[in-house]
Parts: sequence; structure tokens; C-alpha cells
Amino acid sequence: MFFTPHGLVETPRFMPVGTLANVKTLTPAQLRDTGAQMVLSNTYHLHLQPGEAIVAGGGGLHKFMGWNGPMLTDSGGFQVFSLSEMRKITEEGVTFRSPHDGQIIKLTPEKSIEIQNTLGADVIMAFDECPPATASRQEVEQATERTYRWLERCIAAHQRDDQALFGIVQGGVYLDLRCQATEALTKLDLPGYAIGGVSVGEEPELIHKIVQATAPLLPNHKPRYLMGVGTYREMVMAIASGVDLFDCVIPTRWARHGTAMVQGDRWNLKNAKFREDFTPLDETCPCYTCQNFTRAYISHLVRSQEILAYTLLSIHNITELIRFTQKIREAILRDTFATEFAHWLAPQEVGEGE
Ligand SMILES: [Zn+2]
Repeated sequence: MFFTPHGLVETPRFMPVGTLANVKTLTPAQLRDTGAQMVLSNTYHLHLQPGEAIVAGGGGLHKFMGWNGPMLTDSGGFQVFSLSEMRKITEEGVTFRSPHDGQIIKLTPEKSIEIQNTLGADVIMAFDECPPATASRQEVEQATERTYRWLERCIAAHQRDDQALFGIVQGGVYLDLRCQATEALTKLDLPGYAIGGVSVGEEPELIHKIVQATAPLLPNHKPRYLMGVGTYREMVMAIASGVDLFDCVIPTRWARHGTAMVQGDRWNLKNAKFREDFTPLDETCPCYTCQNFTRAYISHLVRSQEILAYTLLSIHNITELIRFTQKIREAILRDTFATEFAHWLAPQEVGEGE
């Protein structure tokens, strides 16, 4: 558990993603009812649209989007490296072309922190270089070293003591680089740490190895956040290594594809078997969707491409993942995590199909 100026965050916890200062198709009241505590937003996207000056003009991120709970902004690093074309990386920062208007934009550690200081989230992230899974060892090594130098610049640029700056461990798939990076970062005594650069196309088993090598080396009295991961088994495995926080766009993205996440499975509501199924998605789920609607009704909405389908499925899917991490928290507090979640922790021969 840790505290922010906008309330506490119980750990481990799944954090919903509100890329453009909203969790797609949900009002803040609906989001609150899913059990959401900390919510993510994206510096890269908000910088491009509407721009941090407008967010600040609206009273800062919390007030602008009507969410008074804890918030976290990422640094934009991951998006610059994964989304933008024509980027150029130098020691100073990254130059890229805006996908909105073709304008040349430069993002540096100082600029990323300035934008995040202006947006005003409770937790802000260091600007990092995130090499793709295909990068060579030499490229990853250089990126990891640069990420550290950029972190020092982020710390120097950070202006607000009501915002906690988290450092990000990089190092690709090279466990020795991960360990070195972790060791260097923890000496900086930051309020929290993240494991970045996973879920960029590598095999799930490799993610587990990276997390197992890295998370236990991070201070256990500070939040440890595994960026971009939010599938059931990956979360259980990471929590077993000490990870506290997760984020992933899957629950809302799948909702918009008509997919429900139910007790570890994923269901396509377009499937004919749901057309006349008048039971809730999950009888044990307390969410608004499961309390008020049937699979048949949601299936009808999905087939008709009604926007309400995406709202109802997003409510359920986010509630489902948050509840999953809450159940793990309760099991940890009861000291029964390893036995209750043994089936998730066991080696799996076939994947979940994700
Ligand atoms: Zn539900």
C-alpha cells in the first residue's frame, strides 16, 4: 500500500489506462465503481492533443478529466519508440514527426518532466529509451546506459515535490544488464521503480525471467511497477516476484472488440452460444454489468455495434482484472497466495492464447 496526494493505492493492483485523459467509453463515476484506484494517462498523447497547457488551464489532469483519485503519467518514452516514425535518437533526446500535423517534435528528459509537471499526476515516470525486442545486445546496452543518464537529468529537472518520480529499469532480454541497471537505479533512492521494456514482442516466458531477475532486487518497501503487463498469468507470476502495480489496455481494447474477460478466460460475445443465454457474464461479479444485464443482451449490443456494449464490457473487464489483483492481495494477507494461485504459478505447456 502506498499513499499519494489523491488517496491510497493498495497493492498489488491493476491500473486502468486512460490514454487521452479518459478510460475509453467510461465516465469517472463508472470507473470509480470498477474499484479503480490509480489511473494512467499518456504524456505523449496528451502533449500532441490537446497539449499540456490546455490540461493545466483546466486545473491539471485530475480536475480536467474529473478523476479525483491517484493518477500516473508515463514519460512518453515508450510511445515515441513504438509509435512515431522518422525518429532520431541522440544523447540530448528524441526528435520525431507528430502523427497529427507532421510537425517536428523534440522530446528530451527535461521536456518530458516539464510536461508531466504541468499535467500534474501523482506519480510521474522517467524518460527512457525503450529498444525493440529485436535490438542487439550492444544496442540494448547503449540504450540502458543512456536511460540511466536520462534518469539523472529527469531527477535534476523535476520541479514538484507533490509528484513522485519513478525510475525505469531497462536492459531488454539481457538479465545481466537488467541486474546492473537495477543496482544503479536503487542507489538513487527514488520513491518507486518500474520495470520497462517488457511486453515489446518477446515470449511470455522471457518476461517471467526478466521480472524474476529484476523485481527482487528492487527495494520491497517501495512500489514496484511492471509497465504494460496486465494478463492474468503474467500478473500472478510477477506478484510472486514482488511486483505491486500493473497497467494494460487489454480490458478496454478487448471490450471494444466484443470480448469479455471472465475468470481467466476470454469470451467473444458474438459467439452464437450467447444469443439466448440469459445469465450474467459472471454470477460472482459485483460489477454494474453483471448485476443488471445478461450475456444475451450484451451479445445483441455487440452484434448491433451499440456503444453501450463497449461501456458494459469495459466496466466488467476492468472490474474483473482489479478484482483479480484484490483477490491476490487478500490471499497474500492470509498467507495463502502460493497455494491458492498455484495453478497460475505452475509451468504451462500451452499459452493462454493471448
Ligand atoms: Zn462483471
